[in-house]
Amino acid sequence: MSGSLPGRVRIREVGPRDGFQNEPETVPTADKIRLIDLLGRTGLDRIEVTSFVRADVVPQLADAAAVLAGIDLPEHVEATVLVPNLRGLDTALVYRDRFQRVGGFLSATETHNQRNVRRSVAESLSELRQVLDRARGAGLAAGVVISVSFGCPYEGRVEPERVLSLAAELAGAGAQEIGFADTTGMANPVQVRDFFSAAREALDPRVEVAAHFHNTRGSGLANVLAALEAGCDSFESSFGEIGGCPVPPGATGNIATEDLVSMLHEMGIETGIDLDALLGATRALAQVLGRPLGSHTLVAGPVIWGP
Ligand code: ZN
Repeated sequence: MSGSLPGRVRIREVGPRDGFQNEPETVPTADKIRLIDLLGRTGLDRIEVTSFVRADVVPQLADAAAVLAGIDLPEHVEATVLVPNLRGLDTALVYRDRFQRVGGFLSATETHNQRNVRRSVAESLSELRQVLDRARGAGLAAGVVISVSFGCPYEGRVEPERVLSLAAELAGAGAQEIGFADTTGMANPVQVRDFFSAAREALDPRVEVAAHFHNTRGSGLANVLAALEAGCDSFESSFGEIGGCPVPPGATGNIATEDLVSMLHEMGIETGIDLDALLGATRALAQVLGRPLGSHTLVAGPVIWGP
């Protein structure tokens, strides 16, 4: 199987959105800006920087406009802004020159979608069509992440056919990238390998297929390997392993970008990321949050093969 592994992998850092959104305390805007600027100097070329959500629902991201205005990313770094709906997109578009990509989302199951955005999947899908249309009209790249693609805390098993038909509809509506999220860490490597093999067959090869794994039960990197073996070469992760669905309370979040980069580099797969620089950004994050982080590589340091 190893002969089929990709030589290079694309990574989107989602900590500034997925991570900061799920912190119990709001991270000060100046710290967010400093951390995003540090991330932008690690070789990462994709960062999800914030989300335009209602401030009363997600107070942690109420400073989205100030973050966008304040960050100073190198030319090659693509900033993504997550939007929950058309209204969020319209607010984001006021700052159109500060980002290059829009991310949307919906859930694979009715119950999760209702609990998350109080809409049916069909309602979300129809709004996402408009979001994708308007984003494209504004000259932005756009992708959609499908939550609970591998299992739902309310509905349990999720049929891959259902997820892939949603993905095909979104691709048909103009999503250039579809991410599949294991929102509560229920996926296992065998399931992941079968899923991404099926996804490659089901979706137009021009659509970028991405994986968003959570380390809730420790299977995150095993799932990455399974996805790689099935041809997936695009991943989302968070520095310091922050973020993820904080249900149940205390559950760990996204796979750590440092752990992902360390493993890939040790496997001979390029990411373009300087692991030492990334660890520097994560150390700065640990200082800001004032607590130990879940990242293994932050604790152990990079692998050293020399004497
Ligand atoms: Zn996540």
